[in-house]
Formats: sequence, C-alpha cells, structure tokens
Amino acid sequence: MAGPTAPPDRASGAQYRDRSEALHRDTTVHQRNYDNLVMFSACGYNSLIRDDFYRLFDFAPDGGERRGSLLDAGCGSGVDLINLGRLAPGMALYGVDVSSVLLGQALQRPSPRPLSVHQAALEAIPFADASFDAIASHEVVEHVEDPAVVLAELFRVLKPGGVAVIATPNGASLWSEHLRQRLARLMGRRGAPVGADHTRTPGFWRREFARAGFVVERQVFDAAAIEFQTYVAPAAWMPWLGRCLEPLRAVPGLGLLVCDRVKFRLLKPGMAVPAAAAPVACCTVCRAPVTFTDEGAHCGNGHRFIRTSAGPVDFTEPVGAAPAGGAAAPTPAAPQPGWAFQLERWLRRAAILAYAAWLLPLLPLGLLAGLRHQPFDHVAKDAWNP
Ligand SMILES: [Zn+2]
Repeated sequence: MAGPTAPPDRASGAQYRDRSEALHRDTTVHQRNYDNLVMFSACGYNSLIRDDFYRLFDFAPDGGERRGSLLDAGCGSGVDLINLGRLAPGMALYGVDVSSVLLGQALQRPSPRPLSVHQAALEAIPFADASFDAIASHEVVEHVEDPAVVLAELFRVLKPGGVAVIATPNGASLWSEHLRQRLARLMGRRGAPVGADHTRTPGFWRREFARAGFVVERQVFDAAAIEFQTYVAPAAWMPWLGRCLEPLRAVPGLGLLVCDRVKFRLLKPGMAVPAAAAPVACCTVCRAPVTFTDEGAHCGNGHRFIRTSAGPVDFTEPVGAAPAGGAAAPTPAAPQPGWAFQLERWLRRAAILAYAAWLLPLLPLGLLAGLRHQPFDHVAKDAWNP
C-alpha cells in the first residue's frame, strides 16, 4: 500500500467551520416554511428519501455479515449515521462534520452503539489512508467550496473495494432554486451562502467522481419536484401532488428534469482488503497518527487540537494557528438590492409559474406510472424519521 499522501491545503477549514456554525444557529430559515416541512415529513418524503439512500449500500437484510467501519462524511446531527448503524449492526460508526453545533446534537441522540465523531472540514479528514469500508455523505458535497478536493479526500480514506454513497441536489432539474442560482451566476454573483451550489448536474458529478478515481456503479433519482412542493405549493397539496409526481422517476428520461435529488453508489477499485482494526485517526496538518486525551488530541509533531464544549475534538485548526486568511477574516458584505435584485425577483416568479405550468401535463402520466409503481407504498411513513 502507498504511504500517506500529503494533506491538501486546509487553510480555509476554520472559515468553513465559523460560517457553517453561524448558519446552524440561525433557525429563521427553518421556521419560514414550517407548515410545508411538517407536511413533507407527514407524507413520508423523509422516509422515502432516506430509504433510497440506504438501499444503495446493499446491506444484507439482516445486516449480519457487514463488518468494518462506516464514515458519515458531513454527518450533521447524526440521523443517517444512527440509521445506517441499525442496518449494519456489525459496523463501527464514525462521523465528521464541520459544525460543533450539529455534532453536539448527534451525541445527544439515542444510538444503538457509541458514535465516534470529530469536528473537521471534509477538505482534511482526520483519518489515515484506506481507513473505512463504507462512506455515506448525504446532501453535503454541494456545500463545499471545491468538490474535487473533498472527493479526493473521501477516495483517500476509503479502502480499495469500499463503497461510497453520495446524495446531492440534481442541478439539471427545473426547480426554481436551481434556475435562480444559474441566473445569479450569469450576473456574476455567488449563488448561495456556504456553498449550497445547486447548479451542478449529474453529468458534472459523474465526471468529478471519475476524476477522483471512483467507479460509478448506480445512479438513482428521487424527490420529484420536491422543492416546488415544499417551498412553492400550499402544504395541503403535498399528499396528492407527491403521489402523482414521485412515480415519474420511473419514466425513462424524466427523472433528470423532474427529480430534485440524485444519489450515486461509487466503488473504489482495487482488491478488497479485510476489515482491519479501528480506523487510525490522524493529524489534519501532517497526517501523523494522533493520541486522544481529555483535553483534545495531539500528533507526534506537536500539532494540538482541542475538544469543543459539545464533546468532539475540533480538527479544523490546530491550537495556536494563525487565523485562516489573516487576522479576523472579513465577512463578505451582503449584496445591495438594486436593479439586478429586482429583475432576479421577477424572473424567479416567472420561473415558478413556468415550472408549475410544465408540471401540470405530467400529472396524468404520473398517475399512470403510479398504478404500476407507487414509491410511497414501499416505505413505512415513519420508517426513518428522526
Ligand atoms: Zn501533525
């Protein structure tokens, strides 16, 4: 096996951490669409989307045979990590996330077995090469600044023969948010805060996966027009709208345009290595193995990382490091609402109307497809809800 590769530039890790944690403390975003989000869950969408994700791992129905270790890259509050732990009872559960706010929530969540979670940017994952048998990453890669750097890291820590399952928005679908971001890009503006880049298509991702070294084994579309349902249509429409639209994912060619999410099963080629001992945690500066203490962790080369009040060790930046980007990185100023802002708002409204008009003729087709296969009938509504 090749020796450890040099760590990538991790200077911006602390910036990602600070911006991400600020976003997770801001609850107004979630309150704004509260009714729709409650209906989203009540209709079974949460369970359906998670079920599609977990199925791609192909765990045996009893989960008995699967051994080794699983990393949830961008585990957030730990929902998927814990659910996957239930599906694969033999696997040790590891999670990394850039936000200590969410990691704190993960540690509070009841779990069938202990979680090993660390605070780190995905650009510098605190584990040795070929540490994990499986990697999950649900709706994370669209939030990072440069997916190529993160995919190379995921590839590095995955064992040869290991499987990575990655879910992300389908930027080719006609959701108004995708169109808005494309418009913002055309006007030379950043599409969204902290990444959240919804403009990337499945083709973009397949090329990036191949560049990182992965083989794409499977691709699944789901969540037909889900953003239209959760952010535009009245909440009360969701039960019937969902059952008419979601079966469209089975219609060849339509998934790309209608389904707002896409999931990939990726393989790291190479001879599968037997499940070894626990993954080796390593320094995000020099990749030497680290020793954990009550206060945090340190490597043999003097890099020290401290434990946050939430519990996990913060690997985003060593103690005593100069603040990333010089003293007190300036916060980018909010764009001033001007003519471009007004124009964008009007175009966005027009796009929403055009989108609704485009969906209407598809409803009878969805009803027909639903007679053959109704995705909601295969998953219990509360199967995977947090
Ligand atoms: Zn070090």
